[in-house]
Amino acid sequence: MTNYNISYIKDCFGCGVCAVACGKHIISIRLNDTGFYEPYILVPDQCTNCGLCLSVCSFHNEGISIQSKPLKSFAAWSTEAAVRRKCSSGGVGFELGRVLLDNGYKVCGVRYNSDKNIAEHYVATTVEELIQSIGSKYIQSYTKDGFCAINRKEKYLVTGTPCQIDSFRRYVRKFKVEDNFVLMDFFCHSVTSMLAWKKYIALVEQQVGKVTYVSWRNKTTGWHDSWVMGIDGEDKSGDKVDWQDSYNILIREKKTYLNSRLSQGDIFYSLFLGDYCCSSACSKQCKYKYDASAADIRIGDLWGAAYKNDEKGVSALVCFTPKGLAIAEKLKRFCELTQHSFDVVAQGQMKQNAGKAFMTPVVQCMLKSSLLWSTRMWRLVFIVERILRLPQRVWRRLKRILLRK
Ligand SMILES: Cc1cc2nc3c(=O)[nH]c(=O)nc-3n(C[C@H](O)[C@H](O)[C@H](O)COP(=O)(O)OP(=O)(O)OC[C@H]3O[C@@H](n4cnc5c(N)ncnc54)[C@H](O)[C@@H]3O)c2cc1C
Repeated sequence: MTNYNISYIKDCFGCGVCAVACGKHIISIRLNDTGFYEPYILVPDQCTNCGLCLSVCSFHNEGISIQSKPLKSFAAWSTEAAVRRKCSSGGVGFELGRVLLDNGYKVCGVRYNSDKNIAEHYVATTVEELIQSIGSKYIQSYTKDGFCAINRKEKYLVTGTPCQIDSFRRYVRKFKVEDNFVLMDFFCHSVTSMLAWKKYIALVEQQVGKVTYVSWRNKTTGWHDSWVMGIDGEDKSGDKVDWQDSYNILIREKKTYLNSRLSQGDIFYSLFLGDYCCSSACSKQCKYKYDASAADIRIGDLWGAAYKNDEKGVSALVCFTPKGLAIAEKLKRFCELTQHSFDVVAQGQMKQNAGKAFMTPVVQCMLKSSLLWSTRMWRLVFIVERILRLPQRVWRRLKRILLRK
């Protein structure tokens, strides 16, 4: 008999919803050899071929689980200065959680687990617990335990990447409990390989000792320059020096702090935003760019011209369903909301999937090798990439000039 289950699925979105849906609890999630989560069947003999795992899978099924277009779009930010300062853009993700906690919901969001060095979904039942979800963690989150902790009979806000949310909607629909859930995704560039994150953390730990805390964005030099890794380590040894110019290391009260900006060449952000190591599912199969979503609400960074001078952070907030619209109304108690057309709110967002850098094959070999490459070595890769891209850039500029004439 042929298997009607996820056993043949490879290089998928890694959303983990199949593992949550499986009534036999025989699906597990692990990292594949490129550093992305993938499901596998622990005990194949126990599979009854019910097909539930495939029916909730956004990678296996064509299209998106709801046919929706943006109903209303807003520029938004929290009116509480501390929330706006701490969050990735305007803090609307956190405020949505707070509003829904007030209305009897629990929140399933993503926190960073510094013991395991992973991002993971978890359930918050209080505002104090919700605080850990603040800030984007630009690696793939491990969803299984967080999603399994959800009681389908209760009300939840579930947040995640668009592919996680599409599978999750299929799942709650299957169990006829869609009304209990508010689903929120974000404009998503892609997720980065966990191999890259592990190499980066190993480099950082040489400097700061065991990592105890990671913050991914920091607005001390303004929101537009907020791609900053802020990392605390356990090392108390002192005598730290600036680590190859982009890494400022500070020792205060016997703790080590590292601060590394993209604008000064941070390795992780260069790999992530330079498209050196995004998953093949993100680059080939993503179907959620721009205005395509299965969520009730989509959030993001409003980078466009309308707010180009804002340095405190502005969130994009797009309502796709009447449920999303009703929640945006409630949000007005905690946030400043200004309605704009979708084009204004989504200006600068990707309409096509993340591509591949010329140096991707080299980077993949470097990530798979057991060697710990130095920052100098990574920088060399980025320089070679820039040289290889030069003819392309010159040609693009020339085309623009010629078309203008
Ligand atoms: C991998 C990734 C790619 C992104 N790409 C873009 C992009 O191309 N364009 C854009 O405008 N915005 C992108 N974002 C979203 C952006 O970084 C901010 O999250 C958004 O502006 C909302 O910020 P905020 O201040 O409202 O709330 P924040 O406090 O930043 O809220 C963050 C929310 O995202 C959730 N979250 C954090 N990390 C993850 C994760 N790894 N997986 C799933 N959910 C997570 C949290 O649970 C929380 O609900 C991306 C986020 C991630 C995690």
